[in-house]
Amino acid sequence: MILGAAIDTPDPAATARELGWGAVQLHLSDPQTWKGPATEYPGGFEGLGAALADASVQLFVHSPFVLNVASTNNRIRIPSRQLLQKTLDAAAKAGAKGVVVHGGHVLKDEDPEIGFENWFKAVDGLKITTPILIENTAGGAGAMARTLERIAALWEHISRSDNAEHVGFCLDTCHAHAAGLELATVAGEIESITGRIDLVHANDSRDPFGSHRDRHANLGQGECDPAGLVEAVVQAGAPAIVETPGGPEAQAKDVEWLEARMSSCPQH
Ligand SMILES: [Zn+2]
Repeated sequence: MILGAAIDTPDPAATARELGWGAVQLHLSDPQTWKGPATEYPGGFEGLGAALADASVQLFVHSPFVLNVASTNNRIRIPSRQLLQKTLDAAAKAGAKGVVVHGGHVLKDEDPEIGFENWFKAVDGLKITTPILIENTAGGAGAMARTLERIAALWEHISRSDNAEHVGFCLDTCHAHAAGLELATVAGEIESITGRIDLVHANDSRDPFGSHRDRHANLGQGECDPAGLVEAVVQAGAPAIVETPGGPEAQAKDVEWLEARMSSCPQH
């Protein structure tokens, strides 16, 4: 089982090697801004990719949080597609396995159908140089990927594109818990809709089940049912990344927490 963490260290390959991780997740640009990908890593994104490959560490990229390809607002939707394309291309140079993109949303009084259609257009119009992994989110009435019904509708739309085979799913356990989805069964339910889960974000939650809040906690220290969290990772059968607080040292404890419980899990 490939486990690792979302980190922001100058030499991610060295961090991963030191902590024994098989994967890392990185941002390739400041996630709160529209600035495109840039790196000071020696050799650029290709150099970064080579260092990770040398250390046998899989790379997942998280796209900037400002992206919303579902938006009905041109001035958000169009730059979102452009920034996503740049992120996909930079991720491809670094040999990434996937680029995680939040499902995004329309405004609460808008028709979600428009958002699904915007997702179709984004997928259909992009040159998908690295697989896109759509991530479920925690809250919001207009969210595209919070409930199973919406995820099913989203997939129905995306499936019409010839690019659909390059679109996968990232299951975030904190977001599922906050969205009111049962962790013990959610991976199977999502896989029956999407046919695949490519990555798990294994996070605990600071908030109660169904709270619709998105605040990650270290594993075993939040409100997620611990057995359900482990079950979700096992059922997904995909690499798992912790996006938990405290930096690499605290995250290494989270990875160990997961590893210990997964090796004692009968299904594994
Ligand atoms: Zn996540």
